[in-house]
Amino acid sequence: MEHFFDLVVVGAGPGGCLTAKTAAKGGLKVCLIEAKPAEYVGLKACGDAVGKHHFDNIGLRYPEGPELCWELRGVKIVSPDGETVFNVEGMGAKAFLLDRKEFGKRLVKEALDTGVELMDETTAIEPLVEDSHITAVRVTGKRFRGTIRGRVFVDASGVSAVLRRKAPETPGFERTVARRDLELAYRELRVLEGELEDVEYGYIYLTQRYAPGGYFWLFPKGVRNVNTGLGVQAVEGNPNPQISFTKFIEDRLPHIAKAKVLDGRGAYVPTRRPLDNMVSNGLLVVGDAACQVNPIHGGGLGPAMTAGKLAGETVLDALERGDVSYRGLWRYNVEYMRGYGSKQASLDVFRMLLQSLSDDDLNYGMSRGLISEGDVLKASMQGEVKLTITEKVLKFLRSIGRLSLVVKLKETAALMKLVKSHYQAFPENPDEYLSWLRETRRLFEEARKIGLRKA
Ligand SMILES: Cc1cc2nc3c(=O)[nH]c(=O)nc-3n(C[C@H](O)[C@H](O)[C@H](O)COP(=O)(O)OP(=O)(O)OC[C@H]3O[C@@H](n4cnc5c(N)ncnc54)[C@H](O)[C@@H]3O)c2cc1C
Repeated sequence: MEHFFDLVVVGAGPGGCLTAKTAAKGGLKVCLIEAKPAEYVGLKACGDAVGKHHFDNIGLRYPEGPELCWELRGVKIVSPDGETVFNVEGMGAKAFLLDRKEFGKRLVKEALDTGVELMDETTAIEPLVEDSHITAVRVTGKRFRGTIRGRVFVDASGVSAVLRRKAPETPGFERTVARRDLELAYRELRVLEGELEDVEYGYIYLTQRYAPGGYFWLFPKGVRNVNTGLGVQAVEGNPNPQISFTKFIEDRLPHIAKAKVLDGRGAYVPTRRPLDNMVSNGLLVVGDAACQVNPIHGGGLGPAMTAGKLAGETVLDALERGDVSYRGLWRYNVEYMRGYGSKQASLDVFRMLLQSLSDDDLNYGMSRGLISEGDVLKASMQGEVKLTITEKVLKFLRSIGRLSLVVKLKETAALMKLVKSHYQAFPENPDEYLSWLRETRRLFEEARKIGLRKA
């Protein structure tokens, strides 16, 4: 194998495969480096659920055959006391439940079919930087140990972000991510003795007691099979998610506690706004490495694939123009931020609010209609929350001294709107970026302050 490529992609997850496929389809010579053996790429801790709309948006064939385990109509969100259940369904709530291993294999195959050269069982160690540009990546593996050179590089290595961590400095480029913006999640695949009562909906249980800063989920993967797990905000003092998961099912879902475990594993997932700047000289960052996950439900498969396609297109364009500096790759930032990124950023503001609420606040908010099912669907599809709180409810809350919760909600909804339009105006000109970034930081400082205030 000749070790010089137009594009070198690290990580053959959904983000990396879509990047590599798009670029190779456009005629580039692409190398895809993956630490795992090709057939096991998809094996990772995941809820395995992905919205149907992502496939429509990307133009990707729906999963079928062994890739597809089940389909869900929507999701039911259960309040901490179990008294209120929101039924979220409709276009944006339909989801496929994947066999991740088979789905991973399909994405790798689609990339290989376009001419991508795969180096599996090969680990990228670090980028080599010359004159503030990434020019190569040092790798080690069964078949090859050494340096792979390229004209441009994509970090799609998930939370490990092996290239991002040592990337050349460019304006506002973040090499590290704060722990408060990560979730530590544990998930199990289980098979029940009997059949599930409700197989058409996924269930999300809100519970700060068991899952501080996160939630518990239960997704049917058939009439007897489930994908179930729990995530906690990865900050000091929060419980081990595996222990919390076991406690939760023993206390609340005994039929799941009795079910046979087929697989159990944990992983981190970033749940913040996208990295403020996702390009450096000779580098684009895609998927979890760029924090492109939905901050509310933690779904990152759709955005990683969307961003992968966009990264591939950006590389084609930049190489044609002969400019792979961060300025030459800037279009990737602009298109991602103005599209999915604007929704993601506004949902990050909502995440900060949710993480600050107690179980009591959540019970109140859901049972008294401070937030409705429609609000939740709108938030998840458009990143907007429009509160329709009646005078009667306001009067009641005032009388019991809970008005501050409404104020917090209202301020959050207003800030989400501001953040969304701020991202939709992401600057096309990199020279205007630092002033955009100053305003971004101010807006998120504001969100943090709202979160810190007692409800
Ligand atoms: C418990 C849990 C539940 C989740 N549930 C859902 C869900 O239900 N729906 C959803 O949409 N999302 C879910 N997510 C998030 C989703 O899994 C990720 O957002 C998605 O996989 C991101 O894709 P990616 O391509 O960026 O990274 P990954 O899928 O993580 O792929 C990165 C690849 O890079 C490889 N790699 C890493 N380091 C190196 C290296 N140094 N050299 C070579 N290769 C390397 C890895 O082996 C891996 O194959 C969940 C995450 C967790 C942890």
